[in-house]
Amino acid sequence: MNTPIRPLAIRMHPDDNVAIIANDGGLPAGTVMPEGPATGLVLRDKVPQGHKVALTDIAAGQDVLRYNVPVGYAREAIAAGRWVHERLLDIPAARELQGLPMATQPAPAWAPLEGHTFEGYVNADGSVGTRNLLAITTTVQCVAGVVKIAVERIERELLPLYPNVDGVVGLEHSYGCGVAIDAPGAEIPIRTLRNISLNPNFGGEVMVVSLGCEKLQPSRLLPPGSFPIHDSRDKEQGPDLVCLQDDEHVGFMSMIDNIVQRAKPHLERLNARKRQTVPASALVVGVQCGGSDAFSGVTANPAVGYMADLIVRSGGTVMFSENTEVRDAVEQLTSRSATQAVAEDVVRELGWYDQYLDRGRVDRTANTTPGNKAGGLSNIAEKAMGSIIKSGSGAIASVLAPGDKLKPDQKGLVFAATPASDFICGTLQLAAGMNVHVFTTGRGTPYGLQACPVVKVATRSDLARRWHDLMDFNAGQIADGEMTIEDAGWALFRMLLETASGKRTWAEHWKLHNALVLFNPAPIT
Ligand code: CA
Repeated sequence: MNTPIRPLAIRMHPDDNVAIIANDGGLPAGTVMPEGPATGLVLRDKVPQGHKVALTDIAAGQDVLRYNVPVGYAREAIAAGRWVHERLLDIPAARELQGLPMATQPAPAWAPLEGHTFEGYVNADGSVGTRNLLAITTTVQCVAGVVKIAVERIERELLPLYPNVDGVVGLEHSYGCGVAIDAPGAEIPIRTLRNISLNPNFGGEVMVVSLGCEKLQPSRLLPPGSFPIHDSRDKEQGPDLVCLQDDEHVGFMSMIDNIVQRAKPHLERLNARKRQTVPASALVVGVQCGGSDAFSGVTANPAVGYMADLIVRSGGTVMFSENTEVRDAVEQLTSRSATQAVAEDVVRELGWYDQYLDRGRVDRTANTTPGNKAGGLSNIAEKAMGSIIKSGSGAIASVLAPGDKLKPDQKGLVFAATPASDFICGTLQLAAGMNVHVFTTGRGTPYGLQACPVVKVATRSDLARRWHDLMDFNAGQIADGEMTIEDAGWALFRMLLETASGKRTWAEHWKLHNALVLFNPAPIT
Protein backbone atom coordinates (compact mmCIF):
# COMPACT_ATOMS: atom_id res chain seq x y z
CA MET A 1 0.00 0.00 0.00
CA ASN A 2 1.29 3.44 -0.87
CA THR A 3 1.63 5.94 1.94
CA PRO A 4 -0.68 8.86 1.07
CA ILE A 5 1.45 11.86 0.05
CA ARG A 6 1.64 14.74 2.49
CA PRO A 7 1.59 18.00 0.49
CA LEU A 8 4.59 20.12 1.45
CA ALA A 9 5.47 23.73 0.71
CA ILE A 10 8.68 25.43 1.88
CA ARG A 11 8.86 29.18 2.46
CA MET A 12 12.39 30.57 2.58
CA HIS A 13 11.65 33.70 4.66
CA PRO A 14 8.63 34.73 6.79
CA ASP A 15 8.04 37.79 4.55
CA ASP A 16 8.01 35.81 1.30
CA ASN A 17 4.78 35.80 -0.74
CA VAL A 18 5.69 32.56 -2.53
CA ALA A 19 6.66 29.08 -1.29
CA ILE A 20 8.26 26.12 -3.07
CA ILE A 21 6.38 22.86 -3.61
CA ALA A 22 8.60 20.04 -2.32
CA ASN A 23 6.71 16.87 -3.34
CA ASP A 24 8.10 14.51 -5.99
CA GLY A 25 6.13 15.09 -9.19
CA GLY A 26 4.58 18.32 -7.84
CA LEU A 27 0.99 18.72 -6.63
CA PRO A 28 -2.29 18.80 -8.60
CA ALA A 29 -4.76 21.71 -8.72
CA GLY A 30 -7.29 21.51 -5.89
CA THR A 31 -4.72 20.27 -3.33
CA VAL A 32 -5.40 21.76 0.11
CA MET A 33 -2.16 22.47 1.96
CA PRO A 34 -2.52 20.81 5.38
CA GLU A 35 0.28 22.52 7.32
CA GLY A 36 3.24 24.86 7.23
CA PRO A 37 3.36 28.40 5.83
CA ALA A 38 0.56 27.68 3.34
CA THR A 39 -1.91 25.99 5.74
CA GLY A 40 -5.40 25.97 4.20
CA LEU A 41 -4.21 27.28 0.83
CA VAL A 42 -5.94 25.63 -2.16
CA LEU A 43 -3.75 25.19 -5.25
CA ARG A 44 -5.44 26.74 -8.30
CA ASP A 45 -2.93 25.20 -10.77
CA LYS A 46 -0.86 22.05 -10.91
CA VAL A 47 2.50 23.15 -9.43
CA PRO A 48 5.63 21.16 -10.40
CA GLN A 49 8.23 20.13 -7.80
CA GLY A 50 10.67 22.90 -6.96
CA HIS A 51 8.34 25.58 -8.39
CA LYS A 52 6.72 28.54 -6.66
CA VAL A 53 3.12 28.91 -5.49
CA ALA A 54 1.59 32.28 -4.52
CA LEU A 55 0.84 32.34 -0.77
CA THR A 56 -1.21 35.56 -0.98
CA ASP A 57 -2.89 37.55 -3.74
CA ILE A 58 -0.11 39.43 -5.52
CA ALA A 59 -1.08 42.64 -7.39
CA ALA A 60 0.22 43.39 -10.90
CA GLY A 61 3.63 45.05 -10.60
CA GLN A 62 4.13 43.92 -7.01
CA ASP A 63 7.39 42.31 -5.85
CA VAL A 64 7.49 38.52 -5.85
CA LEU A 65 9.56 37.82 -2.76
CA ARG A 66 11.66 34.72 -2.23
CA TYR A 67 14.48 34.81 0.36
CA ASN A 68 12.83 38.19 1.20
CA VAL A 69 14.29 39.47 -2.06
CA PRO A 70 12.40 40.40 -5.25
CA VAL A 71 13.08 37.60 -7.73
CA GLY A 72 10.72 39.37 -10.14
CA TYR A 73 7.68 41.65 -10.50
CA ALA A 74 4.19 40.27 -11.18
CA ARG A 75 3.35 40.82 -14.86
CA GLU A 76 -0.37 40.51 -13.97
CA ALA A 77 -2.40 39.98 -10.80
CA ILE A 78 -1.58 36.55 -9.35
CA ALA A 79 -4.18 34.97 -7.05
CA ALA A 80 -3.15 33.00 -3.97
CA GLY A 81 -2.68 29.32 -4.89
CA ARG A 82 -1.48 29.96 -8.48
CA TRP A 83 1.71 28.54 -9.96
CA VAL A 84 4.17 31.47 -10.23
CA HIS A 85 6.12 30.46 -13.35
CA GLU A 86 8.66 32.57 -15.19
CA ARG A 87 6.12 33.83 -17.76
CA LEU A 88 4.26 35.63 -14.95
CA LEU A 89 7.40 37.52 -13.88
CA ASP A 90 9.28 40.51 -15.15
CA ILE A 91 12.94 39.93 -14.38
CA PRO A 92 14.73 42.46 -12.18
CA ALA A 93 17.06 44.52 -14.38
CA ALA A 94 20.63 43.22 -14.73
CA ARG A 95 22.72 45.19 -12.33
CA GLU A 96 25.57 47.36 -13.43
CA LEU A 97 28.31 47.87 -10.89
CA GLN A 98 27.43 51.55 -10.56
CA GLY A 99 24.70 53.04 -8.40
CA LEU A 100 24.46 50.03 -6.11
CA PRO A 101 23.08 50.25 -2.58
CA MET A 102 26.25 50.42 -0.46
CA ALA A 103 26.15 49.14 3.14
CA THR A 104 22.46 50.08 3.40
CA GLN A 105 21.16 47.01 5.25
CA PRO A 106 21.57 47.12 9.02
CA ALA A 107 23.40 44.10 10.49
CA PRO A 108 21.08 41.67 12.29
CA ALA A 109 20.85 42.34 16.04
CA TRP A 110 22.28 39.01 17.14
CA ALA A 111 23.16 37.86 20.60
CA PRO A 112 26.64 36.33 20.59
CA LEU A 113 26.63 32.54 20.81
CA GLU A 114 28.87 31.26 23.57
CA GLY A 115 30.03 27.97 25.04
CA HIS A 116 30.61 26.00 21.82
CA THR A 117 34.07 24.50 21.46
CA PHE A 118 36.10 21.97 19.51
CA GLU A 119 39.39 20.15 19.98
CA GLY A 120 42.00 21.64 17.67
CA TYR A 121 45.74 22.13 17.14
CA VAL A 122 46.74 25.66 18.17
CA ASN A 123 49.46 27.11 15.92
CA ALA A 124 52.15 29.64 16.83
CA ASP A 125 50.41 32.35 14.75
CA GLY A 126 47.14 31.86 16.67
CA SER A 127 45.39 29.95 13.88
CA VAL A 128 43.95 26.53 14.72
CA GLY A 129 44.31 23.32 12.72
CA THR A 130 41.60 20.68 12.56
CA ARG A 131 44.06 18.11 11.19
CA ASN A 132 47.77 17.56 11.88
CA LEU A 133 49.31 17.11 8.43
CA LEU A 134 52.81 17.37 7.00
CA ALA A 135 52.71 19.32 3.74
CA ILE A 136 55.45 19.14 1.15
CA THR A 137 55.33 22.23 -1.03
CA THR A 138 56.46 21.94 -4.65
CA THR A 139 57.64 24.82 -6.82
CA VAL A 140 56.89 23.14 -10.14
CA GLN A 141 55.02 20.19 -11.67
CA CYS A 142 58.36 18.64 -12.79
CA VAL A 143 58.97 17.30 -9.27
CA ALA A 144 55.47 15.87 -8.74
CA GLY A 145 56.31 12.25 -9.60
CA VAL A 146 59.33 12.19 -7.27
CA VAL A 147 57.35 13.80 -4.45
CA LYS A 148 54.52 11.28 -4.89
CA ILE A 149 56.91 8.36 -4.41
CA ALA A 150 58.63 10.09 -1.47
CA VAL A 151 55.24 10.72 0.18
CA GLU A 152 54.32 7.03 -0.21
CA ARG A 153 57.58 6.05 1.48
CA ILE A 154 57.12 8.55 4.31
CA GLU A 155 53.61 7.21 4.89
CA ARG A 156 54.80 3.61 4.88
CA GLU A 157 58.04 3.93 6.85
CA LEU A 158 57.73 7.02 9.04
CA LEU A 159 54.06 7.64 9.85
CA PRO A 160 53.81 4.53 12.10
CA LEU A 161 56.55 6.17 14.23
CA TYR A 162 54.61 9.44 14.51
CA PRO A 163 51.05 8.37 15.42
CA ASN A 164 49.81 11.91 16.13
CA VAL A 165 50.42 12.96 12.53
CA ASP A 166 47.32 12.44 10.39
CA GLY A 167 49.03 12.24 7.00
CA VAL A 168 51.43 13.66 4.45
CA VAL A 169 50.24 15.92 1.65
CA GLY A 170 52.29 16.57 -1.49
CA LEU A 171 51.12 19.97 -2.71
CA GLU A 172 51.17 19.08 -6.38
CA HIS A 173 50.06 21.58 -9.05
CA SER A 174 50.59 22.39 -12.73
CA TYR A 175 52.21 25.80 -12.21
CA GLY A 176 55.85 26.84 -11.81
CA CYS A 177 57.34 26.93 -15.31
CA GLY A 178 56.20 27.53 -18.89
CA VAL A 179 54.14 30.42 -17.58
CA ALA A 180 54.32 34.21 -17.99
CA ILE A 181 55.50 34.66 -14.43
CA ASP A 182 55.71 38.47 -14.50
CA ALA A 183 52.44 39.04 -16.39
CA PRO A 184 49.51 40.81 -14.70
CA GLY A 185 47.58 38.19 -12.74
CA ALA A 186 50.58 35.88 -12.18
CA GLU A 187 50.73 36.99 -8.55
CA ILE A 188 47.47 35.08 -7.97
CA PRO A 189 48.75 31.49 -8.47
CA ILE A 190 52.05 32.34 -6.74
CA ARG A 191 50.47 33.75 -3.59
CA THR A 192 47.88 30.96 -3.63
CA LEU A 193 50.62 28.35 -3.47
CA ARG A 194 52.53 30.29 -0.79
CA ASN A 195 49.43 30.69 1.35
CA ILE A 196 48.35 27.05 0.97
CA SER A 197 51.76 26.06 2.41
CA LEU A 198 50.76 28.11 5.47
CA ASN A 199 47.29 26.54 5.91
CA PRO A 200 46.53 26.00 9.63
CA ASN A 201 46.22 22.23 9.10
CA PHE A 202 49.99 22.07 8.34
CA GLY A 203 51.06 23.33 11.76
CA GLY A 204 53.47 26.00 10.48
CA GLU A 205 55.92 23.39 9.13
CA VAL A 206 57.17 24.39 5.68
CA MET A 207 59.22 21.99 3.55
CA VAL A 208 59.84 22.55 -0.15
CA VAL A 209 60.92 20.33 -3.05
CA SER A 210 62.14 22.21 -6.14
CA LEU A 211 63.66 21.13 -9.44
CA GLY A 212 66.31 23.86 -9.79
CA CYS A 213 65.88 25.51 -13.19
CA GLU A 214 62.18 26.43 -12.92
CA LYS A 215 60.84 29.98 -13.24
CA LEU A 216 59.16 29.87 -9.84
CA GLN A 217 62.28 29.73 -7.65
CA PRO A 218 61.83 28.80 -3.95
CA SER A 219 62.99 32.28 -2.91
CA ARG A 220 60.21 33.81 -5.00
CA LEU A 221 57.56 31.39 -3.75
CA LEU A 222 58.54 31.73 -0.08
CA PRO A 223 60.76 34.79 0.48
CA PRO A 224 62.44 35.07 3.91
CA GLY A 225 60.00 36.31 6.51
CA SER A 226 56.92 34.93 4.71
CA PHE A 227 56.92 31.64 6.66
CA PRO A 228 57.76 30.45 10.17
CA ILE A 229 61.11 28.76 10.97
CA HIS A 230 61.15 26.32 13.91
CA ASP A 231 64.74 25.10 13.80
CA SER A 232 68.03 26.87 14.44
CA ARG A 233 68.41 28.21 10.92
CA ASP A 234 68.99 31.89 10.20
CA LYS A 235 65.75 33.82 9.74
CA GLU A 236 67.15 35.26 6.50
CA GLN A 237 67.42 31.80 5.01
CA GLY A 238 64.95 30.35 2.62
CA PRO A 239 62.62 27.47 3.43
CA ASP A 240 63.83 23.94 4.26
CA LEU A 241 64.55 22.83 0.71
CA VAL A 242 65.38 19.74 -1.32
CA CYS A 243 66.52 20.72 -4.84
CA LEU A 244 66.52 17.72 -7.20
CA GLN A 245 69.19 19.16 -9.56
CA ASP A 246 71.71 19.65 -6.72
CA ASP A 247 75.06 17.92 -7.36
CA GLU A 248 74.65 15.94 -4.14
CA HIS A 249 71.94 13.82 -5.79
CA VAL A 250 73.42 10.85 -7.58
CA GLY A 251 70.57 8.76 -8.85
CA PHE A 252 66.87 8.69 -8.12
CA MET A 253 67.09 6.96 -4.72
CA SER A 254 69.31 9.72 -3.40
CA MET A 255 66.51 12.24 -4.12
CA ILE A 256 63.91 10.07 -2.39
CA ASP A 257 66.21 9.37 0.60
CA ASN A 258 66.93 13.07 0.99
CA ILE A 259 63.22 14.04 1.01
CA VAL A 260 62.40 11.25 3.48
CA GLN A 261 65.26 12.27 5.83
CA ARG A 262 64.34 15.94 5.67
CA ALA A 263 60.74 15.13 6.63
CA LYS A 264 61.81 13.67 10.01
CA PRO A 265 62.31 16.86 12.09
CA HIS A 266 59.03 18.24 10.76
CA LEU A 267 57.21 15.03 11.69
CA GLU A 268 58.91 15.08 15.10
CA ARG A 269 57.52 18.55 15.87
CA LEU A 270 54.07 17.80 14.45
CA ASN A 271 53.89 14.57 16.43
CA ALA A 272 54.54 16.40 19.71
CA ARG A 273 51.39 18.48 19.31
CA LYS A 274 48.16 17.69 21.17
CA ARG A 275 44.60 18.71 20.49
CA GLN A 276 43.26 21.22 22.98
CA THR A 277 39.86 22.76 23.63
CA VAL A 278 39.33 25.96 21.67
CA PRO A 279 36.24 28.14 21.19
CA ALA A 280 34.13 27.76 18.04
CA SER A 281 35.48 31.19 17.05
CA ALA A 282 38.59 29.34 15.76
CA LEU A 283 36.56 27.78 12.93
CA VAL A 284 37.45 29.05 9.46
CA VAL A 285 34.78 27.53 7.28
CA GLY A 286 34.66 27.68 3.49
CA VAL A 287 31.21 27.04 1.99
CA GLN A 288 30.68 25.99 -1.60
CA CYS A 289 28.15 24.24 -3.84
CA GLY A 290 28.65 22.06 -6.89
CA GLY A 291 26.52 19.76 -9.02
CA SER A 292 23.49 21.83 -7.95
CA ASP A 293 19.83 21.02 -8.49
CA ALA A 294 16.48 22.72 -7.89
CA PHE A 295 16.69 21.88 -4.19
CA SER A 296 20.15 23.34 -3.58
CA GLY A 297 18.60 26.74 -2.84
CA VAL A 298 15.67 25.20 -0.91
CA THR A 299 17.25 22.71 1.50
CA ALA A 300 21.05 22.39 1.65
CA ASN A 301 22.10 25.99 0.97
CA PRO A 302 19.60 27.57 3.42
CA ALA A 303 20.66 25.03 6.10
CA VAL A 304 24.30 25.94 5.46
CA GLY A 305 23.28 29.61 5.67
CA TYR A 306 21.71 29.04 9.08
CA MET A 307 24.88 27.22 10.16
CA ALA A 308 26.95 30.14 8.83
CA ASP A 309 24.99 32.53 11.06
CA LEU A 310 25.68 30.30 14.09
CA ILE A 311 29.42 30.33 13.32
CA VAL A 312 29.48 34.11 12.85
CA ARG A 313 27.55 34.55 16.10
CA SER A 314 30.19 32.35 17.76
CA GLY A 315 32.89 34.73 16.58
CA GLY A 316 34.18 32.40 13.86
CA THR A 317 34.90 32.97 10.18
CA VAL A 318 32.76 31.88 7.23
CA MET A 319 33.93 32.37 3.66
CA PHE A 320 31.54 32.25 0.72
CA SER A 321 32.78 32.55 -2.86
CA GLU A 322 31.88 31.67 -6.47
CA ASN A 323 31.84 35.02 -8.36
CA THR A 324 29.75 33.86 -11.31
CA GLU A 325 27.02 32.53 -9.04
CA VAL A 326 26.67 35.68 -6.95
CA ARG A 327 27.27 38.33 -9.65
CA ASP A 328 23.61 38.72 -10.61
CA ALA A 329 22.57 39.47 -7.05
CA VAL A 330 25.46 41.88 -6.48
CA GLU A 331 23.17 44.43 -4.83
CA GLN A 332 22.54 41.88 -2.06
CA LEU A 333 26.27 41.75 -1.38
CA THR A 334 26.86 45.49 -1.48
CA SER A 335 23.81 46.29 0.66
CA ARG A 336 24.78 43.60 3.20
CA SER A 337 28.35 44.91 3.42
CA ALA A 338 29.21 46.18 6.89
CA THR A 339 30.75 49.42 5.61
CA GLN A 340 31.03 51.50 2.45
CA ALA A 341 34.67 50.32 2.10
CA VAL A 342 33.65 46.64 2.20
CA ALA A 343 30.94 47.30 -0.42
CA GLU A 344 33.59 48.99 -2.61
CA ASP A 345 35.80 45.90 -2.23
CA VAL A 346 32.91 43.72 -3.45
CA VAL A 347 32.49 45.97 -6.51
CA ARG A 348 36.26 45.96 -7.16
CA GLU A 349 36.53 42.15 -7.10
CA LEU A 350 33.42 41.49 -9.18
CA GLY A 351 34.41 44.27 -11.60
CA TRP A 352 37.84 42.69 -12.07
CA TYR A 353 36.15 39.34 -12.69
CA ASP A 354 33.74 40.90 -15.25
CA GLN A 355 36.78 42.14 -17.19
CA TYR A 356 38.46 38.74 -16.92
CA LEU A 357 35.34 37.06 -18.37
CA ASP A 358 35.00 39.75 -21.07
CA ARG A 359 38.58 39.08 -22.22
CA GLY A 360 37.52 35.48 -22.87
CA ARG A 361 34.22 36.66 -24.46
CA VAL A 362 32.25 34.57 -22.00
CA ASP A 363 28.51 34.57 -22.72
CA ARG A 364 26.85 35.38 -19.42
CA THR A 365 23.33 35.31 -20.92
CA ALA A 366 23.51 31.49 -21.15
CA ASN A 367 22.45 31.54 -17.50
CA THR A 368 19.80 30.34 -16.54
CA THR A 369 19.80 27.00 -18.33
CA PRO A 370 16.64 25.24 -19.55
CA GLY A 371 17.28 22.71 -16.76
CA ASN A 372 17.27 25.51 -14.17
CA LYS A 373 13.90 26.80 -15.48
CA ALA A 374 12.37 23.32 -15.61
CA GLY A 375 13.54 22.93 -12.02
CA GLY A 376 11.69 26.06 -10.92
CA LEU A 377 14.39 28.75 -11.11
CA SER A 378 12.71 31.57 -13.04
CA ASN A 379 15.77 33.69 -13.68
CA ILE A 380 19.37 34.37 -12.76
CA ALA A 381 18.48 36.61 -9.80
CA GLU A 382 16.60 33.70 -8.22
CA LYS A 383 19.44 31.28 -9.03
CA ALA A 384 22.04 33.61 -7.56
CA MET A 385 19.97 34.03 -4.39
CA GLY A 386 19.86 30.24 -4.03
CA SER A 387 23.66 30.26 -4.02
CA ILE A 388 24.19 33.37 -1.85
CA ILE A 389 21.86 31.96 0.82
CA LYS A 390 24.79 29.74 1.88
CA SER A 391 26.26 32.90 3.40
CA GLY A 392 23.35 33.25 5.83
CA SER A 393 22.06 36.66 6.82
CA GLY A 394 25.03 38.31 8.52
CA ALA A 395 26.74 41.52 7.46
CA ILE A 396 29.71 40.99 5.13
CA ALA A 397 32.66 41.96 7.31
CA SER A 398 35.39 41.88 4.65
CA VAL A 399 36.40 40.81 1.15
CA LEU A 400 39.36 38.65 0.14
CA ALA A 401 41.04 38.75 -3.30
CA PRO A 402 41.84 35.37 -4.94
CA GLY A 403 44.83 33.66 -3.31
CA ASP A 404 45.01 36.05 -0.36
CA LYS A 405 45.17 34.78 3.21
CA LEU A 406 42.85 35.89 6.01
CA LYS A 407 44.50 38.09 8.60
CA PRO A 408 44.24 36.82 12.21
CA ASP A 409 41.60 39.46 13.08
CA GLN A 410 39.59 38.89 9.89
CA LYS A 411 36.59 37.21 11.53
CA GLY A 412 32.91 37.04 10.67
CA LEU A 413 31.41 36.67 7.22
CA VAL A 414 33.93 37.09 4.41
CA PHE A 415 33.30 37.24 0.68
CA ALA A 416 36.35 35.39 -0.72
CA ALA A 417 36.19 36.23 -4.43
CA THR A 418 36.89 33.07 -6.47
CA PRO A 419 35.72 31.40 -9.68
CA ALA A 420 32.84 28.93 -9.16
CA SER A 421 34.85 25.87 -10.31
CA ASP A 422 34.73 23.44 -7.37
CA PHE A 423 38.47 22.71 -7.39
CA ILE A 424 39.67 26.27 -7.96
CA CYS A 425 37.30 27.61 -5.32
CA GLY A 426 38.38 24.92 -2.83
CA THR A 427 42.06 25.58 -3.58
CA LEU A 428 41.65 29.34 -3.05
CA GLN A 429 39.70 28.81 0.19
CA LEU A 430 42.57 26.57 1.41
CA ALA A 431 44.99 29.41 0.65
CA ALA A 432 42.75 31.77 2.62
CA GLY A 433 43.23 29.57 5.69
CA MET A 434 40.12 27.36 5.69
CA ASN A 435 40.18 24.62 8.33
CA VAL A 436 36.80 22.99 7.52
CA HIS A 437 34.95 22.91 4.20
CA VAL A 438 31.20 22.51 3.67
CA PHE A 439 30.07 21.45 0.22
CA THR A 440 26.45 21.12 -0.92
CA THR A 441 25.38 19.02 -3.89
CA GLY A 442 22.14 17.89 -5.49
CA ARG A 443 23.27 15.91 -8.52
CA GLY A 444 26.08 14.39 -6.43
CA THR A 445 29.86 14.73 -6.64
CA PRO A 446 32.46 12.68 -4.72
CA TYR A 447 34.49 15.87 -4.07
CA GLY A 448 37.18 15.92 -1.40
CA LEU A 449 40.36 17.79 -0.42
CA GLN A 450 43.47 16.23 1.08
CA ALA A 451 44.41 19.24 3.20
CA CYS A 452 41.10 19.82 4.92
CA PRO A 453 37.99 17.83 5.91
CA VAL A 454 35.04 18.34 3.53
CA VAL A 455 31.53 17.87 4.97
CA LYS A 456 29.27 17.03 2.03
CA VAL A 457 25.58 17.97 2.26
CA ALA A 458 22.96 16.33 0.01
CA THR A 459 20.01 18.46 -1.11
CA ARG A 460 17.63 15.48 -1.41
CA SER A 461 16.98 12.26 0.46
CA ASP A 462 17.20 10.25 -2.76
CA LEU A 463 20.87 11.24 -3.23
CA ALA A 464 21.60 10.72 0.48
CA ARG A 465 20.18 7.18 0.26
CA ARG A 466 22.03 6.19 -2.92
CA TRP A 467 25.33 7.79 -1.82
CA HIS A 468 24.95 6.74 1.80
CA ASP A 469 28.72 6.31 2.25
CA LEU A 470 29.73 9.55 0.49
CA MET A 471 27.31 12.21 1.77
CA ASP A 472 27.85 13.36 5.37
CA PHE A 473 24.54 15.14 5.92
CA ASN A 474 21.07 14.84 4.39
CA ALA A 475 19.41 18.26 4.04
CA GLY A 476 16.71 16.49 2.02
CA GLN A 477 15.03 15.92 5.39
CA ILE A 478 13.88 19.55 5.07
CA ALA A 479 11.98 18.81 1.83
CA ASP A 480 10.60 15.64 3.43
CA GLY A 481 9.13 17.75 6.24
CA GLU A 482 11.19 15.90 8.85
CA MET A 483 13.43 18.80 9.79
CA THR A 484 13.23 22.58 9.67
CA ILE A 485 15.98 24.71 8.14
CA GLU A 486 16.86 25.81 11.69
CA ASP A 487 17.13 22.18 12.92
CA ALA A 488 19.35 21.30 9.96
CA GLY A 489 21.52 24.38 10.54
CA TRP A 490 22.08 23.44 14.18
CA ALA A 491 22.79 19.81 13.28
CA LEU A 492 25.35 20.93 10.69
CA PHE A 493 26.96 23.31 13.18
CA ARG A 494 27.40 20.44 15.66
CA MET A 495 28.67 18.13 12.92
CA LEU A 496 31.24 20.78 11.97
CA LEU A 497 32.53 21.02 15.55
CA GLU A 498 32.85 17.21 15.70
CA THR A 499 34.60 17.13 12.34
CA ALA A 500 36.96 19.91 13.42
CA SER A 501 37.73 17.85 16.53
CA GLY A 502 38.93 14.92 14.42
CA LYS A 503 35.84 12.93 13.40
CA ARG A 504 36.50 11.75 9.87
CA THR A 505 34.26 12.64 6.93
CA TRP A 506 33.27 10.03 4.37
CA ALA A 507 35.80 11.50 1.91
CA GLU A 508 38.54 11.07 4.54
CA HIS A 509 37.34 7.54 5.33
CA TRP A 510 37.81 6.52 1.68
CA LYS A 511 40.87 8.80 1.18
CA LEU A 512 38.99 10.53 -1.63
CA HIS A 513 40.41 13.81 -2.74
CA ASN A 514 40.64 16.03 -5.80
CA ALA A 515 43.73 17.80 -7.11
CA LEU A 516 44.65 21.34 -6.18
CA VAL A 517 43.84 23.57 -9.15
CA LEU A 518 45.49 26.97 -9.16
CA PHE A 519 43.64 29.96 -10.62
CA ASN A 520 46.04 31.41 -13.19
CA PRO A 521 44.54 34.33 -15.12
CA ALA A 522 47.94 35.03 -16.77
CA PRO A 523 49.19 33.46 -20.03
CA ILE A 524 50.89 30.08 -20.41
CA THR A 525 54.05 30.32 -22.52
CA1 CA B 1 31.35 25.42 -7.03
